[in-house]
Amino acid sequence: MLVLIATAGSPHLCNMNPTQPNLPLIEPTAPTTVGGCAERLPASCAAIPALSCTRSWLTLSFTPDLGPVAARLLHEHFGCACAALRAPEPALRAVLPVAVAQALASPDPRLETAIAQALAWSQVPGQHLLTLADPRYPPMIAALPDPPPVLYVRGDPEALNRPAIALVGSRNATRDGLDIARSVASAFARTGIVIASGLAAGIDSAAHRGALAAGGLTIGFIGTGADLIYPRAHHALAESVIAQGALVSEFPLGSPAVAHHFPRRNRLIAAQAAAVIVVQAARHSGSLITARLAADLGREVAAFPGSVHSALSRGCHQLIRDGAALVEDAADIAALLESAFARQGWQTKALPVPLSRAPKANLPALSESASRLIAALGWSPVTHDSLLQVSGLPGPQAASALIELELSGLVERLIDGRFQRLGPAT
Ligand SMILES: [Zn+2]
Repeated sequence: MLVLIATAGSPHLCNMNPTQPNLPLIEPTAPTTVGGCAERLPASCAAIPALSCTRSWLTLSFTPDLGPVAARLLHEHFGCACAALRAPEPALRAVLPVAVAQALASPDPRLETAIAQALAWSQVPGQHLLTLADPRYPPMIAALPDPPPVLYVRGDPEALNRPAIALVGSRNATRDGLDIARSVASAFARTGIVIASGLAAGIDSAAHRGALAAGGLTIGFIGTGADLIYPRAHHALAESVIAQGALVSEFPLGSPAVAHHFPRRNRLIAAQAAAVIVVQAARHSGSLITARLAADLGREVAAFPGSVHSALSRGCHQLIRDGAALVEDAADIAALLESAFARQGWQTKALPVPLSRAPKANLPALSESASRLIAALGWSPVTHDSLLQVSGLPGPQAASALIELELSGLVERLIDGRFQRLGPAT
């Protein structure tokens, strides 16, 4: 059984991270002028200290009605925000609507507070502002039609320059779904592939935790300002993600969790990942938005199927109907990644790795009632009544057998009260 390990396109671009010897590091190909202009800028701009460039990008990002598409156009036209801010208004009008060009030509002094706050935030160790002109800005996100002009990054920005896959899914996942997300994330994190997700409850958290447990890297894309964590219960998880990867937001500091932020956050997950894998999703869930955006960007999209009786399978089944790959374990995903990584110019190397398809330990010793009950349980969720009927066990005996099975991790009680057998069907 094979999985891929990601390495850079040529040997001189790839070396080993000294702190994590198994992780191949893709070095940035551009000069590392922190926050500053890239070499393609006009000489007049390149002479400007790096902080002035960052300040200019912040001005641009806070200018009303100047969205990410306009920011990209300014980047293409002027090379850096500092050059755009020094351009005469008629030159700006070549790229922007008149009102926006006017606003940018004489920035509102009231923007100064937010700019100063963001600059101060970025002076704290481990907190970074990556502007579109920064060589550390992730190239997969830069290629979007609407890349954020500024990314707020906590942790190591270098995590954004490594091959990544995304694992996303339901906030109300079953234990089986969480196990799948965790084990797949661990299997790939061990090979040096970064696990991207959205730091939400359920599948997202399980994916981050799987990567962390394997000692790998993970990136959490969030829909609030980088100084806020949502949900609050994920504070400790967020700190671990920062220590072993990065937390990334495009929203200004202090931005609350509002509904329209999440589809925008999802596009960053889709852009950053070579493949988006959905584990359990209801029919109208945000994970489907991420998957569709990923498909539009030409990324691989895969989904784990589930029981036809579970609402959490509907979204995944719809994706598969729409052309997503059906995957059952990490090996299936590894096969998909071969072509996805080749398209990105990443060399891949086959490696044996322990995968979720590996046979699990035998069933623990069970009482006679529990053995009878688990034999009666198929792989679809069943109600308590039909379980009694099929197993032929009297109520009290079935109840204690169910508790035994739940404690052994072999059966889960679903949110709707039905019972679901856990583990691989082998
Ligand atoms: Zn500049």
